Amino acid sequence: MPNNNRADRRTCPLCGDPREEAFKPFCSRGCRDRDLLSWFGETYRVPAVEPPEGSLAGEQGEED
Ligand SMILES: [Zn+2]
Repeated sequence: MPNNNRADRRTCPLCGDPREEAFKPFCSRGCRDRDLLSWFGETYRVPAVEPPEGSLAGEQGEED
């Protein structure tokens, strides 16, 4: 077995970025959450990664 995986052990398994100790073995909360949510099923949306749908909704819903 080749032992050249040394660097990979310190990288995020999702995106390959250097991982953070706080979120190990991932690089960020986003990657950690994404992996966590994947356990619940692909049907579940990932709010941490997807931009909020209400971004474009400005003055809608305010009727006087
Ligand atoms: Zn990552």
